[in-house]
Amino acid sequence: MGKDRKEQERIGTRVVRTARVLPSGAGTPLVPPLVQSVAFDYGSMAEQDAIFANERPGWVYGRYGTPTTAALERALADLDGVEDAVCFVSGMAAIATLFGVVIAEGGRIVAQEDTYGATRAMLERFAVERTADVAFVDPTNLEAIERALTERKTALLYVESISNPLLRVTDVSALADRAHAAGTLLCVDATFATPVLYRPAGLGADLVLHSLTKYINGHGDVMGGSVGGTTAEVAKLRERVMSDGAYLPPHEAWLTIRGMRTLELRVSRQCAGAHALATHLAGHPKVARVFYPGLPSHPQHQLACDQYGERGGGVVTFALTDDTREAAYRFLDALEVAASATTVGDLFTEVLHPATASHRRIDPAERARMGITDGTVRVSVGIEDPYDIVADIDQALEKV
Ligand code: PLP
Repeated sequence: MGKDRKEQERIGTRVVRTARVLPSGAGTPLVPPLVQSVAFDYGSMAEQDAIFANERPGWVYGRYGTPTTAALERALADLDGVEDAVCFVSGMAAIATLFGVVIAEGGRIVAQEDTYGATRAMLERFAVERTADVAFVDPTNLEAIERALTERKTALLYVESISNPLLRVTDVSALADRAHAAGTLLCVDATFATPVLYRPAGLGADLVLHSLTKYINGHGDVMGGSVGGTTAEVAKLRERVMSDGAYLPPHEAWLTIRGMRTLELRVSRQCAGAHALATHLAGHPKVARVFYPGLPSHPQHQLACDQYGERGGGVVTFALTDDTREAAYRFLDALEVAASATTVGDLFTEVLHPATASHRRIDPAERARMGITDGTVRVSVGIEDPYDIVADIDQALEKV
């Protein structure tokens, strides 16, 4: 396929094709083979030596790279429009490795204040243990970000595409401009947006991170993470994961490739269901506030439209009028179609109570300041019929 044709390709085609990136030729399997072998044989010691010295392509050991994981890495790099990508055993392993590389170089990290709870907890731990200079910023306040990046030399600006659970949208082009002016790398955790909504690298992000556990695999049966970027930046992460041992094994990679092929189908359906649910909840008497980037009432609705087109993502968060933990628990206990689950992006609709789950370890006062109240509930819309999802949420709201 010519390069021009490939560049014009739409995401629905790309996700199906990317997993077929093995060398072509007669008899090439359409599905990348699952190579479980931990070790590899060589024609001679000279060949082995050349491979170990990185002078010739080849495989060394399961913790260093596997043909199946490499197929997933090429597919992810292609989807995100970056030179290379490396995969890890979880999203948190990807984040820990990235921060580890930055900290080892003595780098300061400026991060979005309302990242995923475990990311925030890890950054707070670095600050307490004095392993790193860490500052938190409001990702929508560009002036505050500029100040934070220039008050001291900063190695990494770390943000999420759509924040969890309040679904704030970050302006990647504006952040990339500010980061680059300060000599800082911008990393976007694009787990919630997925390459279906947009490609952060195309807007200037240097590194794109995913929890593969969520939408990219999408079937709730694999954990994984990835970071993509330039060959040089990814090489640093690859070097570290080889010794730290958090490299994604082949079976997980193979399942992720299989899940990924339906990414566009699933995310399109999930966005349509989420939009229907958010619109319905916006007028519901038992709901005080709805957070959904696809609704005109969302503070960054225009930015979301500019960045993602007509899709607003597959997650809807809302606060109950009775803004208490008891009301939230009654609502969750009454759900029949949706599961009460600590994840997002699966085939099934999953509902979570952030204050006692993802953000449990965040100081309650800080949680309240961020706007995560006790009656806040997050819904990751699945691929069930949107009518049934709305009906289930409605009947559970009746019990509140
Ligand atoms: N990034 C985001 C936005 C997440 O929501 C999560 C998990 O929920 C992670 C990273 C961590 O990924 P994992 O659970 O695969 O370690």
